[in-house]
Amino acid sequence: MTTTNFTNYIEAKTGQTLAALDNKTIYVGLLDFVKEAAKDKPKNDSKRKVYYISAEFLIGKLLSNNLINLGIYKDIKEELARAGKSISQIEDIEPEPSLGNGGLGRLASCFIDSMSTLGINGEGVGLNYHCGLFKQVFRDNQQEAEPNFWIEDDSWLVPTDISYDVPFRDFTLKSRLDRIDILGYKKETKNYLNLFDINGLDYGLIKDGITFDKEEIQKNLTLFLYPDDSDKQGELLRIYQQYFMVSNAAQLLIDEALQRGSNLHDLADYAYVQINDTHPSLVIPELIRLLTEKHGFDFAEAVAVVQKMVGYTNHTILAEALEKWPLDFLEEVVPNLVAIIKRLDALVRDQYEDARVQIIDESGRVHMAHMDIHFSTSVNGVAALHTDILKNSELKPFYDLYPDRFNNKTNGITFRRWLEFADQDLADYIKELIGDDYLEDATKLEKLLAFADDKTVHEKLAEIKFKNKLALKRYLKANKNIDLDEHSIIDTQIKRFHEYKRQQMNALYVIHKYLAIKNGQLPQRKVTVIFGGKAAPAYTIAQDIIHLILCLSELINNDPEVSPYLNVHLVENYNVTVAEKLIPATDISEQISLASKEASGTGNMKFMLNGALTLGTMDGANVEIAELVGPENIYIFGKDSDTIIDLYDKEAYVSKDYYENDAAIKEAVDFIVSDQLTALGNKERLERLYQELINKDWFMTLIDFTDYVAKKEEMLADYEDQDLWNRKVIQNIAKAGFFSSDRTIEQYDADIWHSLDQ
Ligand SMILES: *Cc1c(COP(=O)(O)O)cnc(C)c1O
Repeated sequence: MTTTNFTNYIEAKTGQTLAALDNKTIYVGLLDFVKEAAKDKPKNDSKRKVYYISAEFLIGKLLSNNLINLGIYKDIKEELARAGKSISQIEDIEPEPSLGNGGLGRLASCFIDSMSTLGINGEGVGLNYHCGLFKQVFRDNQQEAEPNFWIEDDSWLVPTDISYDVPFRDFTLKSRLDRIDILGYKKETKNYLNLFDINGLDYGLIKDGITFDKEEIQKNLTLFLYPDDSDKQGELLRIYQQYFMVSNAAQLLIDEALQRGSNLHDLADYAYVQINDTHPSLVIPELIRLLTEKHGFDFAEAVAVVQKMVGYTNHTILAEALEKWPLDFLEEVVPNLVAIIKRLDALVRDQYEDARVQIIDESGRVHMAHMDIHFSTSVNGVAALHTDILKNSELKPFYDLYPDRFNNKTNGITFRRWLEFADQDLADYIKELIGDDYLEDATKLEKLLAFADDKTVHEKLAEIKFKNKLALKRYLKANKNIDLDEHSIIDTQIKRFHEYKRQQMNALYVIHKYLAIKNGQLPQRKVTVIFGGKAAPAYTIAQDIIHLILCLSELINNDPEVSPYLNVHLVENYNVTVAEKLIPATDISEQISLASKEASGTGNMKFMLNGALTLGTMDGANVEIAELVGPENIYIFGKDSDTIIDLYDKEAYVSKDYYENDAAIKEAVDFIVSDQLTALGNKERLERLYQELINKDWFMTLIDFTDYVAKKEEMLADYEDQDLWNRKVIQNIAKAGFFSSDRTIEQYDADIWHSLDQ
């Protein structure tokens, strides 16, 4: 066994034995120990550097991930154990950074981990939101939002003296830059996550919950991620944030290129900017502004240089997420860019007449995605189906113009966090079976297929799953006030609350099951349905769905007739830490979005890797999972994306027809406004949700409900044959290798960035 010198380190520092120290002191000691180990590592280096700009980095706790990447996690764990300390209790002390919202931010975090692991000279650039998105608390069966302060005196942030002037219309704001070292797995080199911030942030501006004075930009800019934009002040604040982020990124990138010998005419040889969703799109006009105003470029050359160094990743076809800023709002915040955007728009108009591809539309709105597509080398979707939909419908007019620019990069996840750390017993067992070369090449997991029919392996997998359920039970009891039945089937849906993800369909299933049990149809085995996720504070229906689930949870878990067969939990404040506990304990992975709407999903990949079976629609990366494991190892239901897209085109979906013509649907939907539920809840919320489902149901909950129930019942029945079940589990783990973010990043580099080969 190797030993680290952590014990010596902390004993020298504190003058006490490790055994005598409290967990908080040990946590801070480990933080400093890792930061010092990281500090002296050289940076990755190559001529062309990648700047991955993203409004979100949902990075998760970093201590254990860093210990794993340093290759010393197990040694430290044992060292602590010998002193009577538990590493997991020490992990608990670390606050989770609140710099992201959902899958997009988690993807960015997996990507910077993989860039470091592959030795790519590539860094993340974003903002350091002090109160994060928000902390979710439940009161009276409803979601409330509170500021999520997460930055402590001892943190992973490393201050720098880098600062830029960012020129807004009415004032210039000085930035400050803090960095987090991003270590690769067993790599000598590192990268940074660059988080820009302001001095002079004022927490006193925050009032009730997460409401705050939105006008004092010089004191509020980096308080919150995605501040409420339901009014004009909120929209302006988002533009302030976006411009601040990209102006800093652009200035950093130009500075670094100059330092490394660029004459800026060759800037594209030194830098590549990946735009993660449309939030960083203003980087295009900002780079052009800097090259023309500060470095003497003429406009045409600036455009030509910038165009060669930008790629755009599209994450959704939902119109709400494709940003369109009114020109007069931009005029109020960044008039310097407006002139440039108008010139870019004119360039496009000179070339193309089609109104659908213009940057500025007839109502004076700037379509960020359109600007990105015209002035970049690459436009990528995030799963095969999603990219096909972009090419064939959503962005078809652009695909017709630039067929070579469009490409697919199916998302991935880092196996260091989502297997090695989150499911340590499973990872150890996999190593016992097939060795550890899957750590370098995840497709080696396929060697597990040799054990598909091995009953001792089936039993061992079931044992590990049960242990993980026990660990989850302890976690939920200690942290979330939830009593988990570890003997039940764990059926989990964790993701942001959104109607397209259809948590409401799962809730209707719960009602259906509850009514059946009340009716004497008793399941063979207890099922625990677990939800987790936040709803955007301005998204009323999503809040109503949360309310419904919390009411159902109260009703069902307290009903002595039903609770021996069915439990429902909604875990408060879903985040990466919660995901790391839930996923390894799950049997059924709910991936039930309306086909065509989930661009990829990455939760689906995490569950598969951890031996849960997918109950899902043919949407996003589910399609690729289904292709890899084959139809007998996944539970697919529902209408396919062509059918759904056609229904939208023809406006042919009428939810009321389903409600009126199907007794089971009617019974479940009616229960939302039943006396039992309204007694526990807020009548207005329940009534609104009920009306929504019957009269609108934009994301077609009812169209797939019958299929969904049938498929879930099939799955529950299959679970009773544990050899059959675990055979499928093995197929899923074995085929998960494709979804390593190392693979995704290799493809980004080979097809878009060309950083490694320079
Ligand atoms: C993976 C992950 C997501 C994305 O989940 P989807 O099911 O793909 O929407 C969101 N939040 C957290 C905390 C995650 O870990």
